[in-house]
Amino acid sequence: MRIVLFGPPGAGKGTQARLLSERRDLCHISTGEILRESMEDETPVGREAKSYVEAGELVPDDVVRRLAEDAISSVEHDGFVLDGYPRTLQQAEWLTAFLEKEGAPLTAVVNLDVPDEKIVARLSKRRVHTETGENFHLEAKPPPPGVDEALIVQRPDDRPEAIRKRLDVYRDETAPVRAHYEGHDAYRSVDGTGSFEEVYDRIAEALEETTPARSGR
Ligand code: AMP
Repeated sequence: MRIVLFGPPGAGKGTQARLLSERRDLCHISTGEILRESMEDETPVGREAKSYVEAGELVPDDVVRRLAEDAISSVEHDGFVLDGYPRTLQQAEWLTAFLEKEGAPLTAVVNLDVPDEKIVARLSKRRVHTETGENFHLEAKPPPPGVDEALIVQRPDDRPEAIRKRLDVYRDETAPVRAHYEGHDAYRSVDGTGSFEEVYDRIAEALEETTPARSGR
């Protein structure tokens, strides 16, 4: 299966991609996560990306493309769920061409539909485990007892100014990507509100609809 999980920041892509990867043995490819690790390790990519990520802006396409290409190639172009890529039309067009060339077109593009007001509430209360990358929400999914509180932090781009910027960027640059996929056989949009399991079940249903005839390479 080759899946893109699509949707605004805070739609739950990370959480759902993690569940899909655990339950369906897929590789979770999050360009945001790769960038955060690169920033922490202070690699050249991390240093280049830092100011963009922290301001809630998009990292230049060519930088992120290399990360996506390496990650997809490392799993031989199959058995992955992409979270946070593509985010621009140029990225979407590159991804389609790259996977076509490898004979491995996307089996599903699933959009998580969540209204703006829910997104702001989710992001401002989101916290992340610095070592595992797991996301929590102060009310809906608090860190379990016993977790070292010092490791549970707010992402710099989850602060109010950066959240506003990310929503603007989503509307201007990423939402057109949805139009690019809408109408394709592999595209489905699901309601991204409700519990994690409810959303997961909707995604599973969307995958049932899109994958049977398309799962071969
Ligand atoms: P995420 O963890 O997916 O919310 O991504 C965090 C940040 O990483 C984004 O706000 C961007 O600054 C950067 N980023 C992640 N994926 C991409 C992408 N596909 N294109 C450009 N920037 C990205």
